[in-house]
Amino acid sequence: MSTPTPHPLVHAVNVTKSFGHVEVLKGIDLDVHAGEVVCLLGPSGSGKTTFLRCINSLERIDGGRIWVDGDLVGLREVDGRLHRLTDRQIAAQRRDIGMVFQRFNLFPHMTALENVIEAPIRVRGESRADATRRATELLDRVGLADRRQNYPAQLSGGQQQRVAIARALAMRPKLMLFDEPTSALDPELVGEVLAVMRELAADGTTMIVVTHEVAFAREVADQVVFMDGGVVVEAGPPAEVIGNPRHERTRSFLARMR
Ligand code: ADP
Repeated sequence: MSTPTPHPLVHAVNVTKSFGHVEVLKGIDLDVHAGEVVCLLGPSGSGKTTFLRCINSLERIDGGRIWVDGDLVGLREVDGRLHRLTDRQIAAQRRDIGMVFQRFNLFPHMTALENVIEAPIRVRGESRADATRRATELLDRVGLADRRQNYPAQLSGGQQQRVAIARALAMRPKLMLFDEPTSALDPELVGEVLAVMRELAADGTTMIVVTHEVAFAREVADQVVFMDGGVVVEAGPPAEVIGNPRHERTRSFLARMR
């Protein structure tokens, strides 16, 4: 269990978001402290992915505020007024946040190693030698030391997802966001990806994970947030939210997941 720092790394207050006339986030609050693992659980369509995408400006929020490491996401204050960041400024903010998607989105024409060194060289300006050294370490860390020269098509889904995790870590993010990282995988490949995530958590990586893996959340999360219909129904330690849920909606969701 991590020791909470006084200022949360992620501080979200009353976040709202609509698509057209449909409000999919109806005032979400969340604090995530450095080193914490937060799992977002909830039925399909409850707004989990949308909320995750708002944290790194893949979606623009309509109301509320999100701060990451003290910086307002997507906005800046000038003379007491809020202005939207430019695309360039948003890209700069996003650099500090790693994201792993359901679909691995690797570059198909690049080897595993090339996929991992691409952004550190191009975006962070690292030398090829430094980026390669670090990518080699990261691929080793996710158990793919012998797969560096393979192309995505030569790798299993679980291996591709582990490359995607290494690729995100190569940018030295302050925060890792995982959007259902195992839900596109064959069941026998889920465990190897969860094992890597478990290790990241044990190493103190700050992580927000949208997942249907209740057992993983129970074991690894410091905080479980159960969302339904665009609101947080309940949040707290897994022993409470999963082990002893207070709300009927949480109970019936968990019963369906068994
Ligand atoms: P969850 O991750 O909990 O399954 P989502 O955040 O993916 O939920 O979706 C919440 C709701 O928002 C759903 O009704 C979904 O159809 C809708 N939605 C998500 N993205 C878009 C989009 N880009 N345009 C329109 N509706 C969307």
